[in-house]
Amino acid sequence: MVVEVPKVEIISVLNQSDVIHIGYNLIQDYIAQNIVSSINNVSNYIVITDSNLAPLYLENLISSLKHHLVHGQRLLVRTLACGEKSKCRQAKTDIEDYLLSESCTRDTCLVALGGGVVGDLVGYVASTFMRGIPYIQIPTTLLSMVDSSIGGKTAIDTPHGKNLIGTFWQPKRIYMDLSVLQTLPRREISNGMAEIIKTAAISNKHLFDELSRGKESIYAAISTTNCTDPDRQLLAKVICTTAKFKANVVTLDEREGGLRGLLNFGHSIGHALEAILSPLWLHGECVSIGMIMEARLACTLGHCTIEPIDKLIDCLKLYDLPTVLDIETSNKLELDQVMNIMKTDKKNKGAQKRIVLLSEIGNTVEKKASDVSNHEIENVLKPY
Ligand code: NAD
Ligand code: MG
Repeated sequence: MVVEVPKVEIISVLNQSDVIHIGYNLIQDYIAQNIVSSINNVSNYIVITDSNLAPLYLENLISSLKHHLVHGQRLLVRTLACGEKSKCRQAKTDIEDYLLSESCTRDTCLVALGGGVVGDLVGYVASTFMRGIPYIQIPTTLLSMVDSSIGGKTAIDTPHGKNLIGTFWQPKRIYMDLSVLQTLPRREISNGMAEIIKTAAISNKHLFDELSRGKESIYAAISTTNCTDPDRQLLAKVICTTAKFKANVVTLDEREGGLRGLLNFGHSIGHALEAILSPLWLHGECVSIGMIMEARLACTLGHCTIEPIDKLIDCLKLYDLPTVLDIETSNKLELDQVMNIMKTDKKNKGAQKRIVLLSEIGNTVEKKASDVSNHEIENVLKPY
């Protein structure tokens, strides 16, 4: 049964209505019913998940899918080892060989139940299997709900770096069941909050104020302990607003030609930090520090005052995110190494660095490398 608190929100992506569905307790029945009734010409559904999620949510999803399947439709399941290591060439090959051994052809629909790792990998498999088959995202981390499941970027990692091989391939549907967040570890919640706070900081002062005020309510709704309907409504609103923003940006700039670059606030420096500090540090933690460093850069260049930076620091801290590099970590970082990684970031145009600079909460300016000197970047990389 779907508990409609609040009702299921539906968001369109790339002018296709009805893509993102956001609500509570959707895994019980809503998702299966909606998939089977809305995706046409499917003979095989393959649910792919990871070893953490399988014992938590697979049973529910499978039994509801079985209940809704029509005559002749088959349901298969694959469980991957959890963690980033599964986003690799071998895992892609394994899934493909499995699909081939099961005689799956174009009438196959993949269902990714998991975080960004499962979503990115399954999307990539779907984009090349039989020259492209449909796939569905059921993101289960906060980060995958507000970020990785939306936009159709698929990828695997290589020994040369993360996400270097991949495609743009849009999922047919994205179902965000907010109830699954109750089992997500606290650090993974903060990891997703970094992207939510980023979205608010670059685009939506009202959302930013709600995040700054609503922590207790948001955490209560996530953990489902002592939470009220208004708590659940606030969490749904925060996730809907963030997802809608990304969906709009992607709709205007699917292939990252320009506007999508706006989403990189905190990521120019954050990615470089992550390349060195991962897996000890999570993406959102690096982006959190990246946002503060890039905001300081904006301040140095005269685009922003100290006040929005202080507000951003307070908000990130509220959600247990780091805002400065500790001395020990900072000592480990070689400035040259960080600068070199920033130069080779695949989002650059040629050797040109592009950095999104905060001008006030809710607004940004974008700068090219020629306008920002290495010296100015190096200055903000130093610990405070
Ligand atoms: P993840 O998929 O590894 O999930 C994090 C951990 O949480 C895993 O151990 C997972 O098993 C566990 N987990 C997931 N949902 C859970 C739940 N509901 N309850 C309990 N445990 C749960 O990591 P992630 O942060 O979701 O995604 C990171 C990946 O996403 C990276 O590979 C990154 O490159 C990619 N990414 C892609 C895009 C994109 O646009 N495609 C954007 C951002 C990030
Ligand atoms: Mg990110």
